[in-house]
Amino acid sequence: MEERIERLVKWARGEKASPYTLELNLTKKCNLRCRMCWLRGNQSNGEEMGDEDVKRVIREALDLGVREVRIPGSGEPFMRKKLLLEVMEMVKERKAKGLVITNGTLIEDEDARRIVEMGWDILTISIDGPREEVHDSIRGVRGAFRRTMEAIKRINEWKKKMGKEKPVLRMNVILAKDNLSMLKDMLKLGKRLGFSEVLFQPITIFSDEGRKMHVEGEILEKVLKEVEIEARKLGVETNVQRLIEERGFDYSEIRRLIFESLKGKEGFLKTLCFEPWYNMVISPEGFAGPCAVFGRSEINVRDHSLREIWFNLFEEYREKLKNGKFLEFCKNCCVPIFLENQRIRRELEARLNV
Ligand code: SF4
Ligand code: SF4
Repeated sequence: MEERIERLVKWARGEKASPYTLELNLTKKCNLRCRMCWLRGNQSNGEEMGDEDVKRVIREALDLGVREVRIPGSGEPFMRKKLLLEVMEMVKERKAKGLVITNGTLIEDEDARRIVEMGWDILTISIDGPREEVHDSIRGVRGAFRRTMEAIKRINEWKKKMGKEKPVLRMNVILAKDNLSMLKDMLKLGKRLGFSEVLFQPITIFSDEGRKMHVEGEILEKVLKEVEIEARKLGVETNVQRLIEERGFDYSEIRRLIFESLKGKEGFLKTLCFEPWYNMVISPEGFAGPCAVFGRSEINVRDHSLREIWFNLFEEYREKLKNGKFLEFCKNCCVPIFLENQRIRRELEARLNV
């Protein structure tokens, strides 16, 4: 958090700063067919970047001063395994922090060895059920659970063999009707497999199938409270408390809440959202935007350097947000981002002594 805030302080004082995080989406391809997956509701935006373009982007990002590279599961990153591992090694050679989100099914022994050897920081692995039949039914492919479990075992074995703490393992679990009665078992599984955190994710609805799985209301609230108690008992870190906090907000009210929270704020602190000042997201097709929500943009890394995009082309996003106007895609934004912006604003206020 600290260095990200340092950079925002610079912007607030009229100076310029580099992006702190780069979120690089390598592919929309996936070997699983999860019933709630966003890919079901999304069309391809064109051809994916070639390996050389991706490596150039990473080099430019690291030269620019990016300190954290996130490779999310927009598709399964290990579908481009050769490239992915090279990119990860580039990140670690420059001592930046790295995070990959994966379904874990494609990590073989040699991959696990390289990941541990390079000192990769965080591997977030999606597991949606404590047993094969639950997980595989959500993930749409038989054998997915077994393959993911094998990958975790390999990583843990290599960590032990090499005497390394990293990568830290985080478990992502979707909250669905299918697994709601098993969330406590997920905590136990996480503990047994050496995960540092078990993170529960509400389903974002992209398809009818996702709608059918979606859980809301009092049932979810009751379960989350029980899970929180169990997590404390087991000593497992989770995001449950944050989820309960987020549930106190009404999604449809979010814009009104944002404008209300800005009353009395001046200058940079009046900014609607700080993402375009510290974050750059790149889609598999090379489109660049300020956050995970943007989808497609006019800016493509195949046509511009990252420096030009960050210091010139992103100004358009910044101008709007600074002047109280949301961007076109902000209508799809969510409560966690609102809360994150509130946290950033509070830290900035403290740093700027206002
Ligand atoms: S693993 Fe991720 S990208 Fe692949 S189908 Fe499942 S949710 Fe979609
Ligand atoms: S979509 Fe959300 S995170 Fe992205 S710029 Fe808009 S408010 Fe910020």
